[in-house]
Amino acid sequence: MAIATINPATGEIFKTFEALNDAEITAKLDLANQAFEQYRQTSFLTRSHALQKAADILEQDKAEFAKLMTLEMGKPLKAAIAEVEKCAVVCRYYAEHAPGFLADVPVKTDASHSFVRYQPMGAILAVMPWNFPFWQVFRFAAPALMAGNVGLLKHASNVPQCALAIEDIIRRAGFPEGAFQTLLIGAAKVADLIADDRVKAATLTGSEPAGASLAAAAGKQIKKTVLELGGSDPFIVLASADLETAVVTATTARMLNNGQSCIAAKRFIIADAIADKFEKLLLEKFEALKVGDPMQPDTDLGPLATPGILQDLDQQVQNAVSSGGKVLTGGHPLSDRPGNFYPPTIIIDIPTDTPIAKEEFFGPVALLFRVPDIDAAIKLANDSPFGLGASAWTTNDQECDRLVEEIEAGAVFINSMVKSDPQLPFGGIKRSGYGRELSIQGIHEFVNIKTVWVK
Ligand code: NAP
Repeated sequence: MAIATINPATGEIFKTFEALNDAEITAKLDLANQAFEQYRQTSFLTRSHALQKAADILEQDKAEFAKLMTLEMGKPLKAAIAEVEKCAVVCRYYAEHAPGFLADVPVKTDASHSFVRYQPMGAILAVMPWNFPFWQVFRFAAPALMAGNVGLLKHASNVPQCALAIEDIIRRAGFPEGAFQTLLIGAAKVADLIADDRVKAATLTGSEPAGASLAAAAGKQIKKTVLELGGSDPFIVLASADLETAVVTATTARMLNNGQSCIAAKRFIIADAIADKFEKLLLEKFEALKVGDPMQPDTDLGPLATPGILQDLDQQVQNAVSSGGKVLTGGHPLSDRPGNFYPPTIIIDIPTDTPIAKEEFFGPVALLFRVPDIDAAIKLANDSPFGLGASAWTTNDQECDRLVEEIEAGAVFINSMVKSDPQLPFGGIKRSGYGRELSIQGIHEFVNIKTVWVK
């Protein structure tokens, strides 16, 4: 894939970039290692100040950064602005809390004193996706830098200007040269980087094939990885639920980021008793959405990020139809305009045992399933290779307890859509990946948890 900015709303090639050559990559790895030797000695106070400064820069220039994201991957501008603001929040969160998260932990044993110490590992490679081009990177970078690690970013090839802007923000914030570098490289270079002694660990957010390939390369080198992969998250609505709120939230949860979010609600599992009403209301909401230029403030749904994603999504919709699904609205790319536009789409009646019912639809397509009761709802929710986040709606306490206990996922949200929050761990189980980002668990992923025992 070429490294380039191509406007998804028009197809216009805006800017192309040369990938780094091997000598340039080596120089950056050397710089990262030199920077680490100095940077690991800095105090939490120094790191916190720099991270607070990064938050200031994000807030001051949020309009500029948001425009860049919208230009490169097509998310509505209002969502892009909110993303930049959230990046500032995660920077401030770790600036404040990391010293506590990483403080020595005394443990009473038969030693005169024993404790746990958290130490940085060195250069961490972050392979990141285009869908939240700023947020995905900052939620890695903020804890990694606070822990004293240095970062190497291999961003998705369609968001090179976002990748360079993030490197620049971190430099301007006062982190030393080499503490965080963007590597403009293709995916084919990742395995070599993992094999390099100067890279100590890696995290990848993206698709299953990319995650499996990175983890295989890291496995050969016995290097730690965190994987944040795909999802086909259930959105369960039981008969006792507040239906109006559930439908409004269902629409937001499916359309978030033009439908291209790992934690977007993708499979809507609705109790028979309310299914007709839910379907009718959801259809109204989907058909009322404004599809168009993502730079316009009133646009709800912009284009998909690339022509390939548009093609893949349409193929999945056609497969769903040939497997027995029925399209209630949408169902074909919008051919009346340039760009990668796909309309809000609802598909019902897909047999639950067909392979397509278990795939992740990465775009504005909702699959609706009907179930007789909570047992069937939980069974269908868990009948998925993925396990990222689940949203479930009920006003019954016993049902709530069962949903929390029995749903197989990294997160369960009751009467809310699934969302990330710096204070809560984020990550999946099954084929959605392993490890956690955010909160105290996130900052402990890339540190040496050293046991100290002194007699
Ligand atoms: P992708 O193709 O896997 O790309 C993600 C990143 O991995 C890009 O930087 C890409 O580089 C790189 N990459 C691709 N193939 C690779 C390989 N074989 N080895 C090493 N690196 C490789 O993902 P995508 O399709 O753009 O993103 C959508 C997927 O990400 C969805 O499945 C979504 O659910 C998931 N996602 C998960 C989370 C989460 O937190 N769990 C968050 C967001 C997205 P190039 O761009 O150069 O190919």
